[in-house]
Amino acid sequence: MPIKTIIEPFRIKSVEPIRRTTRDERQQLLEAAGYNLFLMPADAILIDLLTDSGTCAMSTEQWAAMMSVQAIFGFKHVIPTHQGRAAERILFGVMCKKGDVVPNNTHFDTTRANCEFVGAEAVDLPIPEALEPARLHPFKGNMDTARLAELIERVGAKRVPLVMLTVTNNSGGGQPVSMANIRAVKEICARHGIPLYIDACRYAENAYFIKLREPGYAERTPREIAQEMFSHADGCTMSAKKDGMANIGGFLCTNDDAIAQQEKDLLILTEGFPTYGGLAGRDLDAIAVGLNEALEEDYLNYRIVSTAYLGNHIAREGVPIVQPPGGHAIYIDARAFLPQVLPAEFPGVALAGELYVEGGIRSVEIGTLMFGEHATMDLVRLAIPRRVYTQSHVDYVVEVILEVWRRREQIRGLELTYQAAFLRHFSARFRPLAPSAAPQPATHQG
Ligand SMILES: *Cc1c(COP(=O)(O)O)cnc(C)c1O
Repeated sequence: MPIKTIIEPFRIKSVEPIRRTTRDERQQLLEAAGYNLFLMPADAILIDLLTDSGTCAMSTEQWAAMMSVQAIFGFKHVIPTHQGRAAERILFGVMCKKGDVVPNNTHFDTTRANCEFVGAEAVDLPIPEALEPARLHPFKGNMDTARLAELIERVGAKRVPLVMLTVTNNSGGGQPVSMANIRAVKEICARHGIPLYIDACRYAENAYFIKLREPGYAERTPREIAQEMFSHADGCTMSAKKDGMANIGGFLCTNDDAIAQQEKDLLILTEGFPTYGGLAGRDLDAIAVGLNEALEEDYLNYRIVSTAYLGNHIAREGVPIVQPPGGHAIYIDARAFLPQVLPAEFPGVALAGELYVEGGIRSVEIGTLMFGEHATMDLVRLAIPRRVYTQSHVDYVVEVILEVWRRREQIRGLELTYQAAFLRHFSARFRPLAPSAAPQPATHQG
């Protein structure tokens, strides 16, 4: 006879004791709850059939991901999302409204767009050194705390629902934020009752820069430093596609119970359940492992050194880059590379096109196209995928950039022919500007 009994296809390795109550107790509890079972404390229930929503048993994979996040990030609530921008959308959707102001060292493109989408104003407050590409500073990602304090005074704390710090500062050259700056920003926030959120995409690289450059941290592990960074914050957004070492995924964290509840409600509407946030079990698994691998010192050392290798090799030949080299990318200063191309003629887009033509290299403009009137620099970012390319690949990139550098005087700007209302850089189209009447300088060969 074939076996007919269908069994649970898993074993339970974690149990929660059930509290037994007597009939009399239940009578009293029901009265105390006003005869509404929604108001009954969970531990007074023997079998809970109120809802199937949020009551699923999570797999070991799911718990592993959540526990990795909790162990490193330390926040009370972890809400998985399909990527970083979904976490941003939910955060701003819950915390911000029209007329609000959100300060950041520098908003990344999706962060700015999601902030502006709910009618809030995204304000960048980098330190002045950050706006000079050639200027050296160990923590060029820092926020200008004097301007932060001044801004809060001017607009009033009520209009500032949160302050953000992006670590490392992606739009500002992949530059790190110091622990001292995180503490100083938190102090200002705390004075006004404003929560501090960290855009944590490159938290491991930032932690490693603190270890290398900030007094008092040389003997601490990147994990301990990351834990301290997050201990000063009230929450974070994270794209697991960066220092999560995964191909997809992200999360949103907060210590605020009421905010977490609203965020989970919105998550269910748009992403999926708070147990998986629209991600597959294998994605959660990949994130759990990736978050830990990103903190390994051997890896971080290789990462920071190999990024600097590219930057130093082109800078040595005169190519203007954001100094010092960032953690995840090298940023070419396109305004200095192509002084004949006005910012309104998109020098970064023009240079990125030339790198492609010369050697099939794809880079991205971070400047006038991406940020419009908010752009203070025109940069071309050469972002280095984690653990993907070898030194010979990078040597090839160096050669291609130097070839374009030699013929830079012939490069012309571009004119925009199409743009979308939001995040226009993803779909914009251009045409090259006609050669100017001025005689072109001779080409340098070799
Ligand atoms: C990539 C990135 C985001 C957005 O994350 P996605 O996963 O691409 O949606 C937000 N902030 C910063 C600093 C980033 O680098």
